Amino acid sequence: MIILTVEKTKKWMREIQKLMEENKEQLTTLDQAIGDGDHGINMERGFREVMLKIEDTDYDTVADVLKSVAMTLTAKVGGASGPLYGTAFLKMSMEMQGKEVDETVFKAAVKEAVEGIKMRGKAEMGEKTLYDVWNQVANFLEEEPVEDWGALLEVCQATIEDTREMQATKGRASYLSERSKGHVDPGSMSSFYIFQALMTVVET
Ligand code: ADP
Ligand code: MG
Ligand code: MG
Repeated sequence: MIILTVEKTKKWMREIQKLMEENKEQLTTLDQAIGDGDHGINMERGFREVMLKIEDTDYDTVADVLKSVAMTLTAKVGGASGPLYGTAFLKMSMEMQGKEVDETVFKAAVKEAVEGIKMRGKAEMGEKTLYDVWNQVANFLEEEPVEDWGALLEVCQATIEDTREMQATKGRASYLSERSKGHVDPGSMSSFYIFQALMTVVET
């Protein structure tokens, strides 16, 4: 089964943009509690710039689209999340190079993205960052077929909830030490939207 084509990848980005726009306030509110209150702004702007870049550009491969996405996010998002998501999409692109994106390639690409986030953010599981969600998604995909989107999103949601009681040890939230507890991590929430958007694309 082919998971992503050039058209589906563009649609995936369009869906992400929509979700980031709709949930801009929520992401900003989450970041106001434990960060500097710009995560919604960063995500909305980042994916708006992505669509400006890719919508009317012709691409030969999914890898080419994702490379464009990665460069745009890294260049246009000021916060920590920009280079982290940029790295995630760049690693996916590299893994997909010269391949059709079937289930095996897709899973390998997500795994690479997770390694990229870990390397770039020097994050470990349990540090209250978006890495928690990506890592749990990769773990899920190692065991389960990619079609089980409902279960995948439940894993994301459970992980977001898990970040609530964690003490942040990476990123701005770590400045609050103990006081970072009691709030979910904004980056975990935006990561959920990325996978939620993917579900709507792959299921149609
Ligand atoms: P900034 O913190 O620079 O304002 P954002 O608000 O856009 O950037 O993004 C904050 C999110 O980035 C956090 O909620 C967290 O999930 C993620 N993050 C920050 N630092 C790291 C890191 N070192 N590793 C992984 N994720 C991180
Ligand atoms: Mg912020
Ligand atoms: Mg900031």
